[in-house]
Amino acid sequence: MAAITHTRFPQKRIADDGQFLIDIFDAYERAFKEGSPVSERRLDNYLSILAGFAPEECGMCGQCGLYFLAEADGSVYPCDFYVLDEWEMGNINTMSLARMEKNSASKAFRQVSLRLPEACGRCPYLNLCMGGCRRDREPFCEGLPSNNRFCQSYRMFFDACLPRMVSLTKRVLMTH
Ligand code: SF4
Ligand code: SF4
Repeated sequence: MAAITHTRFPQKRIADDGQFLIDIFDAYERAFKEGSPVSERRLDNYLSILAGFAPEECGMCGQCGLYFLAEADGSVYPCDFYVLDEWEMGNINTMSLARMEKNSASKAFRQVSLRLPEACGRCPYLNLCMGGCRRDREPFCEGLPSNNRFCQSYRMFFDACLPRMVSLTKRVLMTH
């Protein structure tokens, strides 16, 4: 399968995605205040991070996790976005998952994801965003990632909602 590439988003798409995040946070916050809280994975994770817990979603941890995605022929890959020859960890017919987890392909997969674009190093939201899912930082050139294609949408959302997210986190903690 060919390597993953992304085209840059047009300004309107960035604004639409940023506004979408703002809108779902508005609804999430409103539901909590009305006594009928709802769960939305990304927002739940942001609140967890603000409360001092680790996020459960790999794309918000700052490095790839490791799934075991098995194809029909038994070949195993570390993520459903990376069912690519270069990331095959082994074949379940001939190798245990424990061995695959320790082999060089799986180590390299996680190692690559630790690299962040320069912009993330200067970003005030790094501790919350962690650079996002590695797939959204494709293409990597000579091991270095591109800026996350959702970066500007994330910034728009954090600019608009971070103080309210902090406040909501405190309210949620008080109810537990
Ligand atoms: S590419 Fe994204 S979804 Fe896949 S393991 Fe890495 S962070 Fe998770
Ligand atoms: S908002 Fe953008 S620059 Fe900041 S950490 Fe996330 S991806 Fe990196």
